[in-house]
Amino acid sequence: MKHHDVIIIGAGAAGLMCAATAGYRGRDVLVLDNAKQAGRKILISGGGRCNFTNQKVEPANFICGNPHFVKSALARYRSSDFIELVERHGIEYHEREHGQLFCNDSAKDIVTMLMTECEWAGNKIQLRTEITAVAQQENGHFTLITSNGDFSCESLVIATGGLSMPKLGASPYGYKIAQQFGLKVLPTQAGLVPFTWHAEQKIRFEPLSGIAVPSTITAADGTQFTEALLFTHRGLSGPAVLQISNYWQPGEAISINLLPGENALEKIELALKNHPKQSLRNTLSHWLPKRLVEALFEEVQLDKALNQLGHGERETLADALNNWSIMMNGTEGYRTAEVTLGGVDTNELSSKTMQANNVTGLFFIGEVMDVSGWLGGFNFQWAWASGVAAGLAV
Ligand SMILES: Cc1cc2nc3c(=O)[nH]c(=O)nc-3n(C[C@H](O)[C@H](O)[C@H](O)COP(=O)(O)OP(=O)(O)OC[C@H]3O[C@@H](n4cnc5c(N)ncnc54)[C@H](O)[C@@H]3O)c2cc1C
Repeated sequence: MKHHDVIIIGAGAAGLMCAATAGYRGRDVLVLDNAKQAGRKILISGGGRCNFTNQKVEPANFICGNPHFVKSALARYRSSDFIELVERHGIEYHEREHGQLFCNDSAKDIVTMLMTECEWAGNKIQLRTEITAVAQQENGHFTLITSNGDFSCESLVIATGGLSMPKLGASPYGYKIAQQFGLKVLPTQAGLVPFTWHAEQKIRFEPLSGIAVPSTITAADGTQFTEALLFTHRGLSGPAVLQISNYWQPGEAISINLLPGENALEKIELALKNHPKQSLRNTLSHWLPKRLVEALFEEVQLDKALNQLGHGERETLADALNNWSIMMNGTEGYRTAEVTLGGVDTNELSSKTMQANNVTGLFFIGEVMDVSGWLGGFNFQWAWASGVAAGLAV
């Protein structure tokens, strides 16, 4: 049985970062992964350009059962630290709206950078390896039985990610290990995911597929995002929808403001004053795409002139524009989700080291834990920061 100081299960964002950090400290590190390629999620992230971090990262950008948990790791490894690493490797990048940073060329640059760091740090990475059993010995060391040999280690790091994109090899393995060692795993749910239509909504709204409009979307708990809303064949998507899906529970309505920052009633009253004979259809078509206007309101109403609408009718119209309450069927689930909400309960872990409070030598990092970020590079920043926190402790 070959012994290593540290074994990391999962050669993804968090695992590779942890491996390099521990390797530079002189620790002998082996990374195991069942996939045939390291960092596969990084490769497809950000539309192939990897939104690797955000200029402004705050604890409030994360969803976690214990909101204080993320503070320590995020403060110790900041987005500026990762940007410095990217620059040291000569990777060109650019900033998009809301402080999101993307590679100019390809997400491959980030994987190459991490693999280079692991190489310089002296890590071994063994892919295509199925782990069949993990146990802890009396001396505290862990033993791993795998399809590619048996190993032992002092520190075992679980970096197997969440459940999103099963096609890319996502598995519940990390949760199983947590449960095996008596750690609580909180219920999981797809996050950063598009919503789907009910059958009758699909008939009405499917023709809008491809239309994107600015919006403010509010979840039942009051959380709001102002970003683009995209109509698709299957339902609603776009950044505003992905963001709000992190705060949505099945059976809850969402409220969509189609005129963000504007008072629809005041706009209608002003239009009535200036153009009383203008049809409602023409009025609204100045503010929103015509096809959307026609799908939202009835033809008889749209054909009316503004001065034919009663005050109550104008109020109802304004409410539909500023506060369109809609009950979606559900989400597209893990198939297309960017992240998994829930996971290993952070109350079971040290926020400084990511080590299990009750199992010395066992660490959990990245998305496998109950920490999920907003859209915008926050999930990678958590992978880097938690990977470094554990890498300094293993
Ligand atoms: C389509 C898409 C786009 C995304 N874009 C962005 C973005 O632009 N910016 C951003 O911040 N976040 C993005 N994310 C989220 C981000 O990719 C993840 O949050 C991040 O990769 C999590 O890092 P991780 O190391 O915890 O897990 P992962 O990167 O998923 O790595 C987990 C590793 O564990 C391995 N593994 C799993 N099970 C086993 C097992 N049983 N045995 C051995 N190995 C196993 C996997 O093969 C994988 O290599 C995106 C996600 C998706 C799906």
